[in-house]
Amino acid sequence: MARLVWFRQDLRLLDNDAVLQACQHANEERDKVFFIAMPTLQQYAQHNWSPLKWDLYQRQLNSLGADLAELGHSLEIIKLDWFADCENAIAEFCRTNDITDIYFNREYVFDEIKRDERVTQKLEHNLNIKVHSFDSNLLVPPECIKNGKGEYYKVFTPFFRVWRKYIREHGVAAPYNRASVKSSGVANFSAVNFSLPTISSDIPEADIPILNDSEAWPIGEALIRRNAQRFVREQVQDYKARRDTPAVEGTSKLSAYFEIGALSPRVAAHLLQKASPEFPEGLDDGAHTWLSELAWREFYQHLLFHEPRLAKGEPFQAEQAAFPWRNDRDEFLAWCEGCTGFPIVDAGMRQLNETGWMHNRVRMIVASFLVKDLHINWQWGETYFMQRLIDGSFPANNGGWQWSAGTGTDAAPYFRVFNPTSQGEKFDPDGHYIRKWVAELKDVPNKYIHNPHAYLREQTKQAGMFADDVKSERLYPKPIVDHKKARESFIQTFKQVKNNN
Ligand code: FAD
Repeated sequence: MARLVWFRQDLRLLDNDAVLQACQHANEERDKVFFIAMPTLQQYAQHNWSPLKWDLYQRQLNSLGADLAELGHSLEIIKLDWFADCENAIAEFCRTNDITDIYFNREYVFDEIKRDERVTQKLEHNLNIKVHSFDSNLLVPPECIKNGKGEYYKVFTPFFRVWRKYIREHGVAAPYNRASVKSSGVANFSAVNFSLPTISSDIPEADIPILNDSEAWPIGEALIRRNAQRFVREQVQDYKARRDTPAVEGTSKLSAYFEIGALSPRVAAHLLQKASPEFPEGLDDGAHTWLSELAWREFYQHLLFHEPRLAKGEPFQAEQAAFPWRNDRDEFLAWCEGCTGFPIVDAGMRQLNETGWMHNRVRMIVASFLVKDLHINWQWGETYFMQRLIDGSFPANNGGWQWSAGTGTDAAPYFRVFNPTSQGEKFDPDGHYIRKWVAELKDVPNKYIHNPHAYLREQTKQAGMFADDVKSERLYPKPIVDHKKARESFIQTFKQVKNNN
């Protein structure tokens, strides 16, 4: 008799309910425990996992395999193509190894839910294997937050209140120690090295190298946890004041680890809990704001669970599917390349292209610009982000794009259009962030940094050069759109689409 733990986007031993429960039951019954992961590479590519995210995932998977081997357990990694292949592969594994019980942590997006339903059906009904699933990747499961009418919350503020109430009433269990995985001798582990397949894209393809080496991001769950501890100990108190300044390291940079499950939200909450005996209340402003970001992460996962149509490309406000997007290919490519002539937008896109990560404030600015200034379908931006981000997460990314486009639940109202110049002035007043990412602007004085064109023209003239003569450095492009006009026409069209339905 044996039990099986199936790892998916929960690549950790600490605070992993599937691992803990399987090991506890196995210890009681003196059963063997097997560990398995089944990366489905075609499916990940179809879901627009970036090669960078895949690389991080694979490195963490290998690290997990090494951790398990140290504890005397083997991690079996079976490479598959599609979610649909999982049911047969796992059934075969169970038959071969005499598995009686399987354990995994739930995921909440449509395709993942269907995969788990098919696996459960096959194992329980055909093979009489018990399936145990857990909610280890969220603090609050999606079924547990309902309003007075028994419906899920569509607005964040009341959701956050009730989410905290749930946590207050149920507590946050202390994260389990990995010692709960009992050793069973010595095991070997051979690291895997698979490549994510490339598939043709639905959007115009920018001629910008796609990153696939995540070495700049440390892996190993102990190290990741220490980084989270350091953030909560040293930085969280200033989070509210610093999180909107892209030039400083004011946020945790943990999103990619939450996404692959190398860090659990319960560990993060537990770190915050130490700061306040009344947790989740009584936190200082910084900690409270950071907690609210963890709640946004859950809000969007709950939303995907309750509204599976969002995973099929529908806007939350269904009527906005009729919006007549301009979808100008060249303007889209200028946006991708960071060549729009709006410094803060270009800095953000270049940060994304060069590192696979972008600061949240700038994500909001570039998203608003693509949709409300260039009138390009937010789904093009959503896809481009997924293809490049190291932390690409369908719920958070879809939620962020729909929020920015004004089509989502709890969206930024369509008539509130970010002015990219004043956003730059407000959040990067001295232009440090812009200068870091936009080389052409590195010598532009503060006074002109958000509107550098007249200054650059004058400099070029004074140097006796015409634009075409400047060979050593690429010239900074002129603004590709008139913000004021674009804003007005977006508002008008959005309103028309809204009123026609
Ligand atoms: P911190 O500020 O330290 O926040 C802590 C954690 O809370 C993050 O690690 C993340 O897990 C979560 N979080 C923070 N803000 C949000 C948010 N608005 N929505 C959901 N979760 C949040 N986040 C992703 O994880 N993956 C994405 O693909 C993604 N795409 C986005 C696209 C757009 C257009 C926008 C506006 C936002 C997107 N976000 C996404 C949310 C946010 O930008 C990132 O989570 C954040 O920048 C990650 O940096 P951090 O870890 O330092 O966050």
